[in-house]
Parts: sequence; C-alpha cells; structure tokens
Amino acid sequence: MLALEQAIQIIQSQEVWNVNDDLCDCTYQRAGYWNNPYIGETLEIRFCCVWAEFEKQWPQFFRRTQIEPAAWNGGADMPRSIWHRQMAAIEEVSIPAIREVYRDADAPKGVPVKEKLPFVLLVNGTEVVVDLAKMRIR
Ligand SMILES: [Zn+2]
Repeated sequence: MLALEQAIQIIQSQEVWNVNDDLCDCTYQRAGYWNNPYIGETLEIRFCCVWAEFEKQWPQFFRRTQIEPAAWNGGADMPRSIWHRQMAAIEEVSIPAIREVYRDADAPKGVPVKEKLPFVLLVNGTEVVVDLAKMRIR
C-alpha cells in the first residue's frame, strides 16, 4: 500500500472517486458518496482505505481466503485497475510494481456473450422450447 500521506495527497487531488478508479492500492476499491443540499454538504468516503486502516488496527475482524484467480470473462474489456490487482495476486508482487511492469500492456479484452442455451421440455414426445425470460409464475 502507498504510504498513507501519499495516498491522501492523490485522493484529495481527484474530483470524483469511483469504484476501481485506481487512486489507491486497495484490493477492493469502494467509495461512498452522499450529497445533502439542505445542509450544503457532500460526504465522500473511500471505504476501501478505511477498511485497510481498520484491518491494521483490528486484524482479527478480517479474513482473506485465497483461491485460484479466474480468467477474465466479462463482456467489456477488463478494467486496468482490476487487471493490475489480478496480476499482483498471480505474480505475488505489489500493485505499484505491477503497474510499472504492465504500464504499456493491454488488459484482457472482453469476451463476447455466448448465445443462451434454450430451455427445452419434452411433452408427449414433442420438444417445446420455453423462453424463461417471458415466463410468469403466479
Ligand atoms: Zn483504498
């Protein structure tokens, strides 16, 4: 993780925080945003960074279970921030190091969505194709 002061400096220089904005080195980048015009205030929280601090302070309340990283299968291209975290996990190095190594490389491309398999019922020897998306259960 970046030094806390460096992370704060980077985060404060950005106008909007988003999920997977890659503004910190947290594994699961999450930001909260609330605006209340009646009190004239907007509250933003980088939950991921707060969690990281909580984990340092209370590690007994966090559990990490490791599994084999899955290949990207999203319809859109893999976000670089997620790809960097995946490569950091696979290569067991830090996220900043991975950013440097893969700076000019392309993240995995999106995988076209395959056609859905039909749901077929066999009724008195006849195949009946059922579109489950149009079914209503009463
Ligand atoms: Zn964070």
